[in-house]
Amino acid sequence: MAIHLTSPLSDLPGIGQKALVDLRALGMRSVRDLLWYLPFRYDDFSRICGAGQVKAGDTVTVMGTLQSLTSRPAKKRGLKIIEGMIADETGKLSVIWFNQSYLEKSLSVGMKLSLAGRVDNRMGLSLLNPVIERSAHTGTHTGRIVPIYGLTGTLTMRRLRDGMKAALPAADEYSDWVPAKIIESEGYPSLAQALRDIHFPSSKQDLESAISRLKFDELFLHQLLFARVRSERSQKSALPIPFDESFLKAFVQSLPFNLTIAQRKAIWEIVQDLEKDHPMNRLLEGDVGSGKTVVAAAAAASVLHAGERVVYLAPTEILASQQQAALMRLLNEPVGLLTRTQHKVGMEPIAKETLISQINMGQVKCVVGTHALLQDQVNFSDVRLVIVDEQHRFGVEQRHALLQTEGLAPHLLSMTATPIPRSLALTIYGDLDLSILNQMPEGRKPVATAVVLESQRRGMWSHVHEQIKQGQQVFVVCPLIDPSDTLGVKSVTEVAKELKNGPLKTVSSATLHGRLKSDEKEKIITAFRDGEIDLLVSTTVVEVGVDIPNANVMVIIGAERFGLAQLHQLRGRVGRSDIQSYCYLLPEQLSGTTEMRLRAMEQTTDGFKLAQKDLELRGAGNVFGNAQSGFPDFQLATIQDTDIMKKARDKADELLGEDPSLKQHSLILEKIDRSFEEVHLE
Ligand code: ADP
Ligand code: MG
Repeated sequence: MAIHLTSPLSDLPGIGQKALVDLRALGMRSVRDLLWYLPFRYDDFSRICGAGQVKAGDTVTVMGTLQSLTSRPAKKRGLKIIEGMIADETGKLSVIWFNQSYLEKSLSVGMKLSLAGRVDNRMGLSLLNPVIERSAHTGTHTGRIVPIYGLTGTLTMRRLRDGMKAALPAADEYSDWVPAKIIESEGYPSLAQALRDIHFPSSKQDLESAISRLKFDELFLHQLLFARVRSERSQKSALPIPFDESFLKAFVQSLPFNLTIAQRKAIWEIVQDLEKDHPMNRLLEGDVGSGKTVVAAAAAASVLHAGERVVYLAPTEILASQQQAALMRLLNEPVGLLTRTQHKVGMEPIAKETLISQINMGQVKCVVGTHALLQDQVNFSDVRLVIVDEQHRFGVEQRHALLQTEGLAPHLLSMTATPIPRSLALTIYGDLDLSILNQMPEGRKPVATAVVLESQRRGMWSHVHEQIKQGQQVFVVCPLIDPSDTLGVKSVTEVAKELKNGPLKTVSSATLHGRLKSDEKEKIITAFRDGEIDLLVSTTVVEVGVDIPNANVMVIIGAERFGLAQLHQLRGRVGRSDIQSYCYLLPEQLSGTTEMRLRAMEQTTDGFKLAQKDLELRGAGNVFGNAQSGFPDFQLATIQDTDIMKKARDKADELLGEDPSLKQHSLILEKIDRSFEEVHLE
């Protein structure tokens, strides 16, 4: 059957009902979706080596004939060891598989096999748990650079990879939307080629070119979208919000703390923007814990004081409800909450329709919600200020959507903890204005951070217990054990059980992971906030924005699996008051660079410095590492891709200079429209 971009996944060989369910869970329906499901890393099995020539520590593919196959139970009960011998003209090599008894049935002596994996010499020189391919069809799982994808359910890497390989020819249906002139001058592969190579590259160079090309596409499109929004914005007016100095002074006076100078300056910059008849477009950038919420609250207070409406968008339901409560305290007036599962005014749950009509009638003037709010029947045409919290996303589509209302456009305040240097921010965001909170609230003590080795863990847990006894609270964050456990249920459950059976028997604890419904998550977070729970074992769902000042210990299990940006975000969940806080990093394995990464966490609590360190330690061209972009907006581009960002910016400027309306570039126009269609306002 010919495979097209629009073909359903069921057209692919080997993709049955079960696999379809899993692929759908990963967001895929068509062959097009599958092709854009990109590997998150690769195994390099491209070195083909004679059986008699391998050395311990090598990662290789060996092709030969299976000469023997036996099995025996391992010392550990229930485990089975399968041993084989593979031979070619250079010699023989022993092969060992653990716990894969089905191989006894599928393999037999005399078979020609291609085996890929690491050579180990703990049990004599041998290939350990190699990937197997029948020699007749090599070239998908062995003997090359092979893609590793995130999995779910019962979907196996083998099946997904085979499906991907079968889908690959459909990539040729893509024509290039990036002008040929640019592709040529940059020496980029065609889009079709890049898409094929990012899955099954024939060499590292091909892979790198494919990645550069696709990163360029993302950033170039982003620049074009921005340019479009810029020109739309320049044609819009906004309602000026008069600056009432005595009101603002009283607001600041009423706060339970003194604002930092940086916070005062940011508020000042914002209220000045609000006074203009031109829509504000400001990014508030501040490290985790620098106090962005109160700055946003001051802006909201000014607008509400003028009798106008405010919308506050948060990235998750947990944050939406947290920020609603925070705003209510700071503003001293009822604030609405509108997410997929929660509809409230103040603390009172009300029917969704009632809430929406109260918002639209102007009875509820300030509403907090998730981005789902953009899709609801909320009328944005007389909202005067939109605040977008934890704007990791560039949100260019939202900016566009907010400009589509008839009449006046709202003022826009975006907030992010991503440490983007000013010059880079100007490159990516163009004409966005920037306020930076480069100062922590007074009295904050740096979070004491330590890498905790195996031998020190008992002592650490007893220190954790001490803190709980003194009334503090503790986060324990677990990594995803393997890509198939995307919800993190497994690790969270295991760790919680271990703690219950061991060091923290008596403390009240709860678990939080992706499988829980959002109202269950909400309940647990609320109980934690209210101090009913001492210890929360969680996945990275607590990564962004969660503000529970009484929690002062963050324990990160498998810390080496997280990037520095993420570790920094996680650590930012503690150290939010004047009590001393602790962050304990518990690596499962410690290699040279991971150790350096974790030690960097011990040495500084400054997000900018860590971002810089991350860049140094990763180095350029490290495409085999696990990407930790901190820009989840893009599949590939990261904050480190400054060169490609500049290039994309220059090329976009050049193109728009020659063809401002893009009339001669209909493919680009189509692409822009499609991006904007994804988010729209009623
Ligand atoms: P973030 O910038 O990470 O969003 P938040 O706005 O959540 O930080 O603030 C973190 C904590 O610090 C909150 O509990 C907040 O009430 C508190 N806070 C904010 N500003 C100050 C300040 N100037 N002095 C003392 N505490 C502050
Ligand atoms: Mg915040």
